[in-house]
Amino acid sequence: MTLNEAIFRPVTALKGVGAKTAEGLQSLGIYSVYDLLFYFPYRYDELENLPLDQLEDGQKVMLKGIVATTPYQNYFGYHKSRVSFKLRIDHDVIMVNFFNQPWLTKQLSVGQEIAVYGKYDLRKQSLSAYKLLASKKDDDDGMEPVYSVNRQVKQKKLQTLIDLAIAEGLSGLGNAVPDDLRERYKLLSDHDLVLAMHHPKDLAQAKEARRSAVFREFFLFQMQLALMSSKNKSHSGYPKKYDLEEIGKLTKSLPFELSPDQKKVINEIFADMFVDRQMQRLLQGDVGSGKTVVAVFAIYGAVTAGYQAALMVPTEILASQHFHKITAMLEDFGVRVALLTGSTKTLERREIYRELADGSINVVIGTHALIQEQVVFKKLGLVIIDEQHRFGVAQRQALINKGDRPDVLAMTATPIPRSLALTVYGDTALSEIRHLPAGRKPIQSFWKTTSQLDEVYALMRQQLAEGFQIYAVTPLISESETVDLENAEALQERLAGDFPGQTVVLLHGKMASSDKEEIMDRFAAGEIDILVTTSVIEVGVDVPNANLMVIFDADRFGLSQLHQLRGRIGRGQTQSYCVFLADPKTEAGKKRMKIVAETTDGFKLAEEDLKMRGEGDLFGKAQSGLPEFRTGSIVSDYQVMVVARDEAKRIVQADPDLKAEKLADLQAMIEYSKLVQARA
Ligand code: ADP
Ligand code: MG
Repeated sequence: MTLNEAIFRPVTALKGVGAKTAEGLQSLGIYSVYDLLFYFPYRYDELENLPLDQLEDGQKVMLKGIVATTPYQNYFGYHKSRVSFKLRIDHDVIMVNFFNQPWLTKQLSVGQEIAVYGKYDLRKQSLSAYKLLASKKDDDDGMEPVYSVNRQVKQKKLQTLIDLAIAEGLSGLGNAVPDDLRERYKLLSDHDLVLAMHHPKDLAQAKEARRSAVFREFFLFQMQLALMSSKNKSHSGYPKKYDLEEIGKLTKSLPFELSPDQKKVINEIFADMFVDRQMQRLLQGDVGSGKTVVAVFAIYGAVTAGYQAALMVPTEILASQHFHKITAMLEDFGVRVALLTGSTKTLERREIYRELADGSINVVIGTHALIQEQVVFKKLGLVIIDEQHRFGVAQRQALINKGDRPDVLAMTATPIPRSLALTVYGDTALSEIRHLPAGRKPIQSFWKTTSQLDEVYALMRQQLAEGFQIYAVTPLISESETVDLENAEALQERLAGDFPGQTVVLLHGKMASSDKEEIMDRFAAGEIDILVTTSVIEVGVDVPNANLMVIFDADRFGLSQLHQLRGRIGRGQTQSYCVFLADPKTEAGKKRMKIVAETTDGFKLAEEDLKMRGEGDLFGKAQSGLPEFRTGSIVSDYQVMVVARDEAKRIVQADPDLKAEKLADLQAMIEYSKLVQARA
């Protein structure tokens, strides 16, 4: 079975998918039939099989029986259809109706033993069926996949679409992992793993399928890395003859002295830039450790050597924050800095394009907008990618390709162990800022349970009374953005009620970026007392007066992420506090809360995180500091990543253009993934 390119057709090619649904799917990262197939459930509900006489009206249930009449299909309304038949269950007969799954007529015949899942209507003695579990003949109960969804695309809709994609596309899927590798590691074909991930017969089968799915996902990622590094193999580049005198002036202009770690790292970067090899360096350092300042030195170095520099960050808030900081540091030196994001107005954008092309802009800071085709540089010599795990390999490469082998500096605020960094990011030199600038007071951290909420409130009142501001953070805890938003809204209301007279405002990821920016500006200006937010990751802003952070349901975050959140405070001269509010049920959960409350070293926490992960989270959610994977967890599936890397390297070494017939499907899937990244 080889890949049929039709698998990559847009979701709108499927029946029942209009522009609105397509938009909703897009925000889940689903563009095509192929994407639907690989949008896996994050958990399964086990379906109960109950006798008819125990059913209540409206109950969701799985029923097993024998098809008693020929399925009859009729259409009604616009694009609506129904497949109906009678199902014999022991001595009873009920009516089964499937809506909008017309293909089922072909899959059903009289006498067939089936299981169906749906909602029971007691009065009509009928089942509104969602799902046919035709393959289920054994006695154990079924497994209902549960997907991460959003407001526009609800659970049932997504299930239907995925089943439709399976029905129409699965046979043309092909295989990402070549046959010989699949055999060696006993992995399922793409066809089998997709089926088993969506509709496993039991948890054991789901686990088995997941093993194959994780390998496949990591393998595709590592193939892209390997191809990229084989393309950049020579690593030859241009030496940057920067002006040391000017750089000395920049050092003197700072309101503080560079920390020893900053000096060391700046020297490492300058050494790379000075030679005729392309720099490939990853700078790791905690939030607030002073990476931005280091970036400014690299930028100014490139500019004094006659080159342009580009800094790409994942969100508009971060982009504008960096823009203001960097402009402030460099404008006295005659460096022209521009900001380019999705919300830059057309006229201004055109002007920026023009001035980047003619070289009158020295530095551009922006989001994905930087990799648009229209962005052309006169002489791009340095590319900096902040929070690089938030970008795809192809996105990074797209920016790099805008220069002639420019130096590349990636930065990340979540330190990860060296071995892991090298495995996940490929061939790269590492620089680390391990110590915060002198004079910072370490943040005092506490773990409190909800029964101690009074104490937490007391601390909040005391801080507010002293004129400080507070972050209240709630995690993304459910599969649905709607529910998460409701959680955050509920918290905002609760705090507004409990802290009368204080301004309590909600900031969340789904807001328009202009609204987000306005709220952050108000918070920075001290007009908001308590900022409730779903994901402070979005909030890069430095607000020294925000002295206290309370993280609700803290046990739902990973250690590294908690640490990164905490890094948003402690920027000022005063003592600051972080409270982790959580009632962890497991020993491991309790231990994690203790560790994060006791340790402020991000590197240590990253290692602890690595050690402790892997047990409970079968369907591990993405953790920050690392690229997001849908299925695999780099931490708990680390060994799989290593194998995938080695195999990918071997393949690319032997066949850098993927000419072999057995790599044709893989090639097509990689090309497709590049297309998706270019769109995102
Ligand atoms: P990061 O980008 O790593 O989060 P920043 O570069 O934004 O950190 O620095 C955080 C804060 O610390 C900024 O307000 C910055 O001006 C300040 N800072 C950076 N380096 C030093 C230093 N050596 N001494 C004192 N303050 C510093
Ligand atoms: Mg930063």
